[in-house]
Amino acid sequence: MNKTIISVQDLVKNYGNFEAVKGISFEVYEGEIFGLLGPNGAGKSTTLEIIETLRQKTSGKIIVDGNDLDIAPNEIKKIIGVQLQTSGFYPGLNLVQLIRLFAGLYNRQVDAMQLLDMVNLRDKAKAKVKELSGGQKQRFSIATTLINDPKIIFLDEPTTGLDPQARRNLWDLIRDIRGKGTTVIITTHYMDEAEFLCDRVAIVDSGKIVALASPDGLIDELVATGFERPKEVKQANLEDVFITLTGKSLREN
Ligand code: ADP
Ligand code: MG
Repeated sequence: MNKTIISVQDLVKNYGNFEAVKGISFEVYEGEIFGLLGPNGAGKSTTLEIIETLRQKTSGKIIVDGNDLDIAPNEIKKIIGVQLQTSGFYPGLNLVQLIRLFAGLYNRQVDAMQLLDMVNLRDKAKAKVKELSGGQKQRFSIATTLINDPKIIFLDEPTTGLDPQARRNLWDLIRDIRGKGTTVIITTHYMDEAEFLCDRVAIVDSGKIVALASPDGLIDELVATGFERPKEVKQANLEDVFITLTGKSLREN
C-alpha cells in the first residue's frame, strides 16, 4: 500500500485578481519522486512554495506527514528540505563553512565532508559558492536540503540551464536521494527528465491539474486514444551524438 505523505486538497492561490492556482488536489506517496510538470506560469512554484510554508495560500487544505499546514507549519518545516537560491548564501564562506552554518541553524550535527561526498563536491570543500560551475552550484544547493535529514525534499527546476552531463549527474543524485528513502517533489518542464526520474507526475496547466499518473500510464493512455507518433526514422538523436562524443563524465572540476 502506498502511504500518503503530502495531501493537497482544493488548493487555490490568487495574486490580486489573478488566479494562479485554481483548486488543485493531489497526493504524494512516501518514498516516491513526484513531478509537477507544466509550462512557465502554470503555478508549479507557487504550489511548491505554499507546501513549503513559504507562501500563503488563498484556500484549500494541506497535510504534510500528518501535520495540517494551518495548524502546525513549524512541524512541517522540521521535516522538509527546501532548496535555497545559491545567490543567497554568505559569499565569504566556503562550502564546509556554509554547511556548518546551516547545520547550526537547524540545530543538527552534520558530517560536512560526507554530505559533500554524496553530491560529488569533496574536492570543492574549501571553495566559495561563486567559484562553482552551474551544475556544482545545483549539487551544493541540493546538499543543503539534506542537512536536517528531511523526510521530503523540494526541488524547483533543479536542472534548468545545465549541460547534458551535469543534468544526468543530477538525475543520478536525485535517484540516490530517493534510494535512501527520502520523498522527492520536483518541478520541471523537461519531459525527458520527468520520464527518467518521476514515479508519478501531475501535469499542470494554467493553475489546473490536467492529468495525474505514472509517466508510463500517461503515455499508454494517449496511445489508447489512437495517437501515433510520426515514425522515428533514426535510432538516435542529437543528444545521443553529443553524449557519445563528449562522454558522460562531469567537466566542471
Ligand atoms: P511556474 O513555477 O509554473 O512557472 P509560478 O507559480 O511561478 O509558475 O507562477 C504562476 C503564475 O502566477 C504566473 O502567471 C506568475 O506570473 C504569477 N505569479 C507568481 N508569483 C506572483 C506574485 N508574487 N505576484 C503576482 N503574480 C505572481
Ligand atoms: Mg517556477
